[in-house]
Amino acid sequence: MSESTNEPQLSFEQLNLRPELLQALQARGITSPSPIQAESIPHVLKGKDLIAQSQTGSGKTLAYLLPILQRLDPADKGLQAVVIAPTRELGMQILSEAEHYGDPLGIRSQALIGGAALSRQVEKLRLHPHLIVGTPGRVLELIKARKVKMHEVRTIVADEADQLISLGMIEDVKQILKSALRDRQLLFFSATITPEVQRIADRWMNEPVGVAMRPEQRTAGTIEHLYVRCDERDKLETLRRAFHALKPKAALVFVNEIEPIAELVAKLEFGAIPTAALYGDAPKQERTKVLSRFREGKVRLLVATDIAARGLDIKGITHVFHLDPASDADHYVHRVGRTGRMGEHGVSVAIITEREAFILRKFEEQLGIRIEPRSLAAGKLLELGHAKSGGRRAEPPAQPGTAASARGPVKEAALDTSAPAGKAKRTVKTSAAATPAASLRKPAKPGASPAATGGDTAPPRSSERPRERERARERDKKNKGAPKWLKAKQQQPQQAQPKQEQPNQEQPKGSDKT
Ligand code: AMP
Repeated sequence: MSESTNEPQLSFEQLNLRPELLQALQARGITSPSPIQAESIPHVLKGKDLIAQSQTGSGKTLAYLLPILQRLDPADKGLQAVVIAPTRELGMQILSEAEHYGDPLGIRSQALIGGAALSRQVEKLRLHPHLIVGTPGRVLELIKARKVKMHEVRTIVADEADQLISLGMIEDVKQILKSALRDRQLLFFSATITPEVQRIADRWMNEPVGVAMRPEQRTAGTIEHLYVRCDERDKLETLRRAFHALKPKAALVFVNEIEPIAELVAKLEFGAIPTAALYGDAPKQERTKVLSRFREGKVRLLVATDIAARGLDIKGITHVFHLDPASDADHYVHRVGRTGRMGEHGVSVAIITEREAFILRKFEEQLGIRIEPRSLAAGKLLELGHAKSGGRRAEPPAQPGTAASARGPVKEAALDTSAPAGKAKRTVKTSAAATPAASLRKPAKPGASPAATGGDTAPPRSSERPRERERARERDKKNKGAPKWLKAKQQQPQQAQPKQEQPNQEQPKGSDKT
């Protein structure tokens, strides 16, 4: 792979973009290329294969869309470019950009996203799009059905290539690549260039150019990385106080398990913070509703798991909180990438226990960043040493009966220090009862007990011991605030293996919803 040289930053005009594209950029108020755009556009225009390390918020979509659109021939009715994305949300965002910049050039774009009506998509294909944006399963399905013809496709993009791999979609992507001509241009955009991304690039690309960010550029330089230390049981109260101290316009809070989310939302709302949950697994309308309330400012804090927040491109998220630490540096990069976008200032605040501190130290080393300690005092987030309390402990002990003292399962939770560095996780004790969370929890470790796996093979409740029944009652109580669709899942009989939450992703092949 040849490395791209860091040439001095060029303007869009100097990148030789067509006047129609320059005007469309102007209409969006975009005046100068971001680093990833300045680096990638010349290579893509030359038809080179490219592997670019870039995350959402770096301007990666236009880094490939602008040169691709410029190279398409509107007079040719054939399909000429395919963009593959792991989630429907990201797919729809890419489509809306493709339409905005493609319209003035006479380029027709279409989405082929899983979960949306197949018949309508097939119908629309009769209009002969020049570019399609799709999720891998749906695109492949339509290639196999001979509704999408690949023989004229000149460029294929795998956006968020690392996610396509980690979400198990890469086999479909390979099939799509196989169906195209051998000399097509292939572009990978990925927040992290994992060995697997590199291996696939080596196998499928022809002398690719690498556009890599230096480690310190993996998180935007405009992001302030902070942490507040407290006891596990004080985490929620610390979050509430940090929120009131920082007064974010719009913030995300990340948790590692979906199980406690409903209860968290209820408690934060009680703490005078307009809060909602972003469930990756929620029906599409539900997600859209939550996101539009967030965009309108009616909700100021969204509680989400990493998967639920994947690919979110919401302008104006000023703060990201971590109520559970990210599982590794890559997840940390994805989380903080929701803020500090395109040069805006963003703040990341990790709320950690003493035992979790080593995880942040690792992120500092791996990402070349500094995560600064802060403490809360007198309604402010202060640099250590400025707090009157002065000590290491950032928080006063929670009063019995306050929200902080009753974070439910979290209160009981123990940090699993047996996990490898950077992978420490809160283990929430689960009962054998099949709960929505149980069905959506992380895949079970081989050899884990039924209780730990979420209970597929667990005995029925009648044979449970009183302690387990008590825990099941606790869980039911906790799920009281959960949305209806999530509760409905609870009623459904459990199927096969407990599955990791599948985010705003495409539906299984052949589904024809809505
Ligand atoms: P992306 O990284 O593609 O998800 O882009 C993030 C956001 O930045 C999108 O809303 C883009 O419209 C916007 N954007 C893209 N390129 C630029 C640029 N050069 N200057 C300012 N904003 C940009």
